[in-house]
This record gives sequence, structure tokens and C-alpha cells, in this order.
Amino acid sequence: MAEHVVGIDLGTTNTCVAIVEQGVPKVIPNKGGYRTTPSMVALSESGRRLVGHLAKRQVLTNPQNTIYAAKRLIGRKWNSTAGRTVAQTCPYTIAEGPHGDIRLKIRDQVYSVPEISAFILQEMKMIAEAHLGVPVEKAVVTVPAYFNDNQRQATKDAGRIAGLEVIRIINEPTAAALAYGFGKNLERKVAVYDLGGGTFDVSILAIGHGVFEVISTAGDTFLGGENFDLRVMQYLIETFEEDTGVNLREDRMAMQRLKDAAEKARCDLSSAREAIVDLPFLHTSPSGKVFHLQEPLTQQQLEGLTEDLIEQTIKICERTLASAGVDRKQLDDVVLVGGMTRMPLVQRRVAEFFAIEPCKGVNPDEVVALGAAIQAAALVDEQHDLLLLDVTPHSLGIMIVGGYFHRLIEQNTTIPTRAGHVFTTVRDNQTSVKILVLQGESEKAAENELLGEFILSGLRKAPRGQVEVEVTFSISVDGIVSVAAKDLETGREQCITVTATSGLTEDELKELVKQSQAYMIELRASEELERRRQQCEKLIDSIRELLPQVQEAMSGTRFGRDAIAKAEAVVRRAEGELARADARALGDTLESLDRTVSMFRNVAHKRSEAAQR
Ligand code: ADP
Ligand code: MG
Repeated sequence: MAEHVVGIDLGTTNTCVAIVEQGVPKVIPNKGGYRTTPSMVALSESGRRLVGHLAKRQVLTNPQNTIYAAKRLIGRKWNSTAGRTVAQTCPYTIAEGPHGDIRLKIRDQVYSVPEISAFILQEMKMIAEAHLGVPVEKAVVTVPAYFNDNQRQATKDAGRIAGLEVIRIINEPTAAALAYGFGKNLERKVAVYDLGGGTFDVSILAIGHGVFEVISTAGDTFLGGENFDLRVMQYLIETFEEDTGVNLREDRMAMQRLKDAAEKARCDLSSAREAIVDLPFLHTSPSGKVFHLQEPLTQQQLEGLTEDLIEQTIKICERTLASAGVDRKQLDDVVLVGGMTRMPLVQRRVAEFFAIEPCKGVNPDEVVALGAAIQAAALVDEQHDLLLLDVTPHSLGIMIVGGYFHRLIEQNTTIPTRAGHVFTTVRDNQTSVKILVLQGESEKAAENELLGEFILSGLRKAPRGQVEVEVTFSISVDGIVSVAAKDLETGREQCITVTATSGLTEDELKELVKQSQAYMIELRASEELERRRQQCEKLIDSIRELLPQVQEAMSGTRFGRDAIAKAEAVVRRAEGELARADARALGDTLESLDRTVSMFRNVAHKRSEAAQR
């Protein structure tokens, strides 16, 4: 039997899991029958972990302990613009981690961002396992094309914590193109425009007979529906302040309700000209005065509030077309991906800019997961005829004298790729060299994203300039960077120490993998207990129901009285075990209960037969 490798679109807002079955890519619905699952994690008052719809359903009453849009923070540093913006606007608590990374606080627990993503991935794993009836251990996971190395590494770590081997990371727009062109034998140049809850990506691809070649990609990993929500919230907060003098920014509960209402109004305005934001009892002042918010919002107003955000995406489209060297007129199709592309102004602007009506044939919520599943199937089936050529979204380089950035690999280079650089010692008897590896497009190193500090050590003592070490920088098919060094004189591999600049250390990861395995065992045990409890209760009910008939038929004999006494004893034992929540004992008792019910049914049946005769 073929291995079950799933494709997962781990979105800022929604996560979707898919698989290829008999050559057909399919979305796997969750237990509630929904095809996507909210990317939300919460802890209930009793400390129970809630993921997906369970977390979303309680967010309005428990905003401090519900994490949403964690993807906006993954692989980011504490003192980044994104970190600060989220810290100011989200109702949950953000703190600095031990490696300058970001940690999230829910009740008395502190989590790293990859852990939160891992909880979501683990949920997807369980959804897939429930559907397939077999364990799922491998996955292809998608990331925004514009994610840098730190964000990709952190996503891979999340998979590992969740007990999933991430066999490939692919870019979301590329995955979408794969699902769009799958099995169609197309020959086309297309643009994929993906605007989701937290990120924007655009990729230009050439598709031809099973080859999907990305020519260029660009994006903004901090631009999506969340930014649109903030604009609407700001408007509502300001209008409310003008009308009532009340500042809602410090009222966490009110802010969460506002966000929810802002998003809902925004979505409604995709199909209606006007919506009303109605939030009764939104705020109570210290003196006990109650305030309600009721504010109409038109499509035109919404467009006015957010037009510039859409223009930002159009600028990025222009940029990526230029670096692809592709003229708009050469494009055959534009594929829209992401929930935000349902906004009429987004559709209008994209159609206007590319001068083509965007393709209507794909489902913007599912196409990325389907593409990931197609790639997963292709990776396990050696006979597939699918070739994916993706590019690195950012230039890779090192810091050189004067704080400048020296490029080694240009952005939009096809991956996998590698580049070498020879380092020489600059002091006599120098035994180590420190290398700062960065990603970005600025000439100044400090303005680019620091991926890691590498220390090349154990160099031969010699006059300066005599020791030469060649360092090779590689970018894998996952878009992940690695570094290797070789002593040019001896040909020996040199040891390199990597310092994490964000994310988790190997030791922390190992510990989290262990914790997560323990959690799964506990979760399975509690599910098993629940299953046994329900079975037990059903059997006890049946016994109680049948008891009067059995008593009537059997209490005349000693054998009968014994059997009834035994049955009553089994029920008492089961009730004790239920009260103690003793799963193991319940397992044994279930069998006795089952035997008793079967015997009782038999007696009851015989009795009714006798009565009919
Ligand atoms: P992600 O991939 O980041 O998880 P999605 O593709 O699921 O995101 O898109 C989620 C975003 O799309 C949210 O910001 C949501 O408000 C927005 N959205 C969903 N439906 C609509 C709609 N009908 N009109 C406008 N925006 C929508
Ligand atoms: Mg998405």
C-alpha cells in the first residue's frame, strides 16, 4: 500500500489538509465536516487545549487566552516591526524568548511560536488519520513564497514537534499553480495572486507539459486581511471616541468583539453594498454607564479605508513582472488565491492591472492544500511526471568590511542552488573567522534579515592571508539555507558552529517533540476513556431496561437469582470505575457488561416468544 503523505496549507487564518487518492487530489474535512480549520489555539479554564473551531467558538469570551494569526510571528525576532505591531494590537500576551525570539503566553503557560503552529499541524494530522484510518507521519507543508529562511526553518520545526516529517516545504502560490495546471497538459504563462489573512505573494510561472517553472516571486509577509481588519477597527474606534469620548483601545474584550465585527462586516461587504456593525453592550465605564456601538459601513467606505493596501499589492505585482522580464500581455491567466481575493475591489484592481479576467476555476480556500497534496504524491511515487522548479525569494549573502552586504546568490535564482566564497585570515595566527549570513536586498547588512552567525574555528596558525577556507552556501529545494566549509589547503571539512538567531535550539526542539508525544498519548487515552465511558453507560442503560423482564422470567430459580445478583454486581463495579475514570478497569468491565446485556436480551426474547405462543 502506498504511503499516506498529506499536503497541508498552514494558513494565518485557516488551515487545510488534502491527499491524493486514486490520482485525485481531495480535501479532507474535519470532524465537524468543515473543509478548513481555523488556525487558532486556546487553553480553556480547566487547562484543556482547544484547536480550530473549538478555539474560535470561545474567542469572544476568552480573548487573552486564544492565539490567532501566530503565523504572523513565526521565525521573527522579538524586536522586529512585525513583533511590535502584533504586540500592540493582539489581545494575547507576547514576551521575549531566550534567543531574541517571540514567546506567547496563554494562562500560566508560555509557548514558542513553532509550538502553536505545531498544535495546529497536529490537529490536521489527527483529521487526516481519522479519515484514512492509518497513522500519517509525513507531510508537504506550504509557506508563503516570500518567507525567509528563519520562517521556513521555524515552520519545519513546527512539523517536527507535531510528529510530522516535513518531506518538502513548497511555496503557496507554486502549490496553487500546481493544482491549477494538474493533469491538464497546459502550456501557459500565469500569475498567481495570493492574498490571505496575513500574507501576500505573487508568482509568475511558466507551465508546460508537466513542468512548473517559477520565473519570479515577490510578496509581503505582513500584508493581509488582518491589516484590513485593523483599518476598519481604527475607523470604528475613532468614530466611537468622537461620539462618546470613550477610548476602547484598553478594553480587551471590546477590542476582540470589534475585530470580529470588523472582519464580518468586511466579508459581508464583498456581496452587499452596506453592512451595519452592531455591538450592543460593548463597553461599561468605571461609573457603570453602558455603551453600545451601532455604525453603518458601506462598500465605498471600506474601499476608501483600505485602497492603499491593495495598491501595495499591485506595486509588488509590477516589481515581480519586471524581475521576471515578463510583459503583462504575455500572461495567459491570473489565478486568485486566498479569502481576501473575494473582495470586489481586489478583483477589479487585479483584472485592471493584468488586463485579464482572473480565472474562476479554482477554489481560493483549497487550491494551496490540493497543490501540496499533488506534490506529496509526486514525491512518494517515483513514476510521476511532474517537475517543479522554484526560486529563492531573497538574495543570500554575507556581511563584509564596512557593514556592507555581499551577495552570493541573487533573488529569483532557481533552487536548489549553491555558491562558494573563499575566506582568508586577516590577522597573523588567526584561528577562527566569524561569518554573518543574511537574506535581503539592501546594500547595508544591518537592514537585511540575519539568518545565523557561523564561527569557522580550528584554523591553522599562520601569517595572515595564508589560510584559505572555502565556504559553500546552499539553498535546498525547501528554500532552506545551509553552510559548509572546506580548508582549501588540506581539503578537510571545517567545523562550523551555528548560533540560532530566532526560533528554537536543537535541545529545546527535542524536549518539545517529547512533550508533544506525551500529550498525544494522554489525548488518545482520554479519548479512549470517553469512548469506554459512553459504551459503558449505554450498556448499563440496556441492563436497567431489561432487568424487570429478566427478573420476572428468572427470579423463580436459584440460578436465575444468582445471574441477576451477578449482573447487579457488574453494574455497581462499572459505576465505581466510571466515577474513578479508571479506563483500564472499564475495559475489562465492558466485556462483562456486554455479556450480561446479551444474556438479558436472550432471556427477554425467549420470554416474548413464549408469551406469543
Ligand atoms: P490564510 O491563507 O492566511 O489562512 P485565507 O486564504 O483563509 O487566509 O483568507 C483569510 C482572509 O480572507 C481573512 O482575512 C478573511 O477575513 C478574508 N475573507 C474570507 N472571506 C472573505 C470575503 N467573502 N470577503 C472578504 N474577505 C474575506
Ligand atoms: Mg493562504
